[in-house]
Amino acid sequence: MTASLDDVSAAREIEDLSISISGIKPEMSFIVAVSLALAILPPTEGRTKVLLVSMDGFRHDYLNKTETPNFDSLRSGGVSMVYMDNSFVTNTFPCHYTMATGLFPESHGIIGNQMYDPDLHATFNMSSTEPFWWEGGEPIWITARKAGLKSGVFSWPGGDVEIFNLRPTEWRPFSDSTTFENRVSTVVSWMSEKDFDLGLLHFPEPDLAGHYFGPDSEEIISAIQKMDTLLGLLIDELNKAGLKDKIDLIVTSDHGMTKVDLFNQVIDLSQYVNETLLQRVADEEAVANLLPQPDLQVMLKEDIPERYHIKNNRRVMPVVAIAEEGWTITNNLTLLQQSPMKGSHGYDNGILNMKPIFLANGPSFKSGAIVPPIQSVDLYTLVCHILKIKPMPNNGSLERILPLLRNSSSMMNWNIVTVLLGTFVLLVFSKIV
Ligand code: ZN
Ligand code: ZN
Repeated sequence: MTASLDDVSAAREIEDLSISISGIKPEMSFIVAVSLALAILPPTEGRTKVLLVSMDGFRHDYLNKTETPNFDSLRSGGVSMVYMDNSFVTNTFPCHYTMATGLFPESHGIIGNQMYDPDLHATFNMSSTEPFWWEGGEPIWITARKAGLKSGVFSWPGGDVEIFNLRPTEWRPFSDSTTFENRVSTVVSWMSEKDFDLGLLHFPEPDLAGHYFGPDSEEIISAIQKMDTLLGLLIDELNKAGLKDKIDLIVTSDHGMTKVDLFNQVIDLSQYVNETLLQRVADEEAVANLLPQPDLQVMLKEDIPERYHIKNNRRVMPVVAIAEEGWTITNNLTLLQQSPMKGSHGYDNGILNMKPIFLANGPSFKSGAIVPPIQSVDLYTLVCHILKIKPMPNNGSLERILPLLRNSSSMMNWNIVTVLLGTFVLLVFSKIV
């Protein structure tokens, strides 16, 4: 007889608990571990699937700009919030990896879209797939695989990397050029025919429209409408595949977008810094990571506010410059001004324009509820909770996600039962020994 997936995760829990119970006879420790595991694991009847969709650069207020019937029905039948609090730097790779790992960038190590690692003398860009860049954290698709589940990742940063010697069951690279409609049908077939438990799906819009035309343009409105139509297609295909009551759909994004002016709001580093004193500019635009020559003893990294959760990582350079919203830092003014860019992001994650959307709909979520903002670090905890798998240590909060969940009150009761049962088992056991 083969063990079911639930048996596998229960066994993992038991293993972990056995390690932490010391000073108890081995045969008894097993009984206690089993009792505790049964007490701690939530009920496992039926496993809801999760599809996490990121529409890149979807600012929290974009849905107010035009008619969005499909987003509206997703929102009215599920949960939404005014915005989701995301992580700093508000760029694509760090924000997506925070969502996937539940860790702040200083812990997962993807601190920018471009990075320099001073210990390894290595340079990172958005095509870098060497595992060492990514192994500061464990993404949800690997946690799911370790629990015996099937996961698919379409074009999500890190999805095409071998992490701790594991990969998703299926994946497509970030650079994939498949049409949006084909992305939808591929992921729906993963979740239905192939019976995957978890899917992550990334679309590069409306970020591109935001960059090229700005967040207040006509073109951004077309991009929002296009994403609304696409969401409608996704929901239709999931319903046709019979997944309506079996899947939780989460639609969110990595960051927002703000207007930039590359001629009148530019910080040209050459005007402020003697460039012979700079060894390297590891990243620029909204945030510049500067590695000065050793004789330039400026250690502004120490002064980065704690709330950014970025400074405790060696890939953050000793000098970091953060621009005000709308300003652009450059090390090459001529090159920058050849760019048609009208919008950008990367700024302080406390700025409203940097915050993304969040909507979720499915059997695990309340219906028609507007809830307080969660943080992007909470998504990992949320997905682990729905899939009933054990999360790795992370920066997320179960308390912050409870208001989203349909059974949050019964879950609270279950937590109380867990504590009572665990205490009871320990009391009985202490009498036995
Ligand atoms: Zn992005
Ligand atoms: Zn972008």
